[in-house]
Amino acid sequence: MPDLCSVCDTGTLTEQVVPFLLSHGSKEIMIEDHRTVCDACGAVSYVGEQISRHELAVASKIREMDGLLSADTLRRIRLKYKFRQTDLEAMLSVGPKTWTRWERGKVPQSKTADTLIRVLADDPEVARRLMQQARIDNPDAAEVFAAIDEDTKRLAEANLRTQIGLSTLDINPEDLAQRAIAAVRKARLEWREKAA
Ligand SMILES: [Zn+2]
Repeated sequence: MPDLCSVCDTGTLTEQVVPFLLSHGSKEIMIEDHRTVCDACGAVSYVGEQISRHELAVASKIREMDGLLSADTLRRIRLKYKFRQTDLEAMLSVGPKTWTRWERGKVPQSKTADTLIRVLADDPEVARRLMQQARIDNPDAAEVFAAIDEDTKRLAEANLRTQIGLSTLDINPEDLAQRAIAAVRKARLEWREKAA
């Protein structure tokens, strides 16, 4: 039994797949739209799954046009640090369920949020500091950070050893400090490459 149109009460409804022109800023792009059309009065509506399919398609194209991280990438970044969705909402000062909607793909994140997410994904120190600032108590994430510290420390020690060999006595403290800082920086970059 086909559904009757709720606008004219006589026509029957069928699903149409049509190109839909999405305007975003100065850009325009076509997406494939699944929608319901009345064969009598021509009323167009989105019903059931068509609604979320439309939202997902629009959000995904906007992400593409703005060069934003995909919903899957957001999820991967969150799981890398074992953050909960609510953790990231507090860290980024966005409303409840905002991250959840971003990660489900229904709403694209803002450009500002996207930039911050990229930085925290790339730099565990930023992620840790945001977590501390938001006073988040997440033992799983704390464990991840402890493991990263351990990794970085090991890499830094190895770097420093290669640089100064065994002759620490010949090096003045200032020089040693400089080299230690360089060794830690290099270790962080190495960690990032490894984690990427
Ligand atoms: Zn109708």
